[in-house]
Amino acid sequence: MINRRDLIKHLSAVPLLGGFLGQGSAEAATFAAKLPARNLAKELGIRTFINAAGTYTAMTGSLMQDEVVETIQGAAQNFMMLDEVQTKVGEKIAALTHAESAVVTAGCFSALTLGLAGVLTGMDPKKVEALPHLEGTGMKSEVIIQKGHNIGYSHALTNTGCTIIQVETVEELEKAINEKTALLWFLHIQSDKGQIKHEQWVEIAKKHGIATMIDMAADVPPVENLWRFNDMGFDLVCVSGGKAMRGPQSAGILMGKKHLIDAARLSMPPRGSTIGRGMKVNKEEILGMYVALEKFVKMDHKKEWKMWEDRAATIGNAAKSVAGVNVETFAPELGNHTPTLRISWDAAKVSLPVKLLQENLRKGDPSIEIMPGENNTLTITTWCLKPGEEKIVATRLKEELSKAVV
Ligand SMILES: *Cc1c(COP(=O)(O)O)cnc(C)c1O
Repeated sequence: MINRRDLIKHLSAVPLLGGFLGQGSAEAATFAAKLPARNLAKELGIRTFINAAGTYTAMTGSLMQDEVVETIQGAAQNFMMLDEVQTKVGEKIAALTHAESAVVTAGCFSALTLGLAGVLTGMDPKKVEALPHLEGTGMKSEVIIQKGHNIGYSHALTNTGCTIIQVETVEELEKAINEKTALLWFLHIQSDKGQIKHEQWVEIAKKHGIATMIDMAADVPPVENLWRFNDMGFDLVCVSGGKAMRGPQSAGILMGKKHLIDAARLSMPPRGSTIGRGMKVNKEEILGMYVALEKFVKMDHKKEWKMWEDRAATIGNAAKSVAGVNVETFAPELGNHTPTLRISWDAAKVSLPVKLLQENLRKGDPSIEIMPGENNTLTITTWCLKPGEEKIVATRLKEELSKAVV
């Protein structure tokens, strides 16, 4: 959260808030002084922690940067028409991502549901209202996916009333396609778990005139992925806003062909009597998402990567200095592409079940979250750390591992 001192410092840089307050810095200071000094985490006894685990939804994703929080605060000062905010922001996002059109959704998951809704209904309001009941409406009802891509997120697709058809080979795919096929869905993070690769998936779909969608929720960085799949010819591309892009955690982006985005928006708020009415994104989140994306596209990714690596080295070196501890640094190719430490230890030398280590780090002051792995391993990422926190993680980890040396 932005603190009051930071807010005063940044006020002049926030046109909306500055405009609302008038020009005088005294007024601005008075407003900032009136901001609640409440620390709700403290007041309600909610544990805050250093996140050395990663962009996990359960851990509230990522921290929004100051510009995003300022955008949210500024946007909260005025009424706007929800559709106008989406249209104007959508045009900007589309231009940044090589898409024809885009809309901010309530996370990547709702982008999947709404994108498919758009494919099913087109611009027919009767069909929009009929979802998730497809029978007798003339709507298609099947989504084809590769077996290896069928992890939990495909539930977003069945929310529309569609059935999932699983295939493994090109032959099975060709056989599965029929007049009920609405969509060929692809999950980038599992692309090594399916025989059919992106380009071929798109090619086969195009040959049959069927829409394609890719879920690349956790697949920036690299930043190029934001336009790679639009350029490749996927009709719809879905991404999370609250992971590496550090937008609002409840935001995501649906981008792609304009006629499909227009259709998807018919199932979105403010329109009621739709399957998407509960997937509301407010103007603050829409604008915050836009600013986060813009910042992400323009940032120096090489410098960011180096910072993550340096932090990982600080933590890795501290852990490694304990006899019996082994440290490996890698970056997953698919999903959460960031320097990651895999720390493991020889149980004969360091007697510490990983669950106990997790608990000890959690109970420490400050509390730290890591990701426990199998047996005596854990993983750590450094992209969710605030500057300097890597030193605390290094010290605490070494402390706990050293205590357990046999
Ligand atoms: C995180 C994730 C989602 C869900 O994204 P939200 O933005 O949390 O809705 C969907 N698919 C994959 C592969 C993910 O990693």
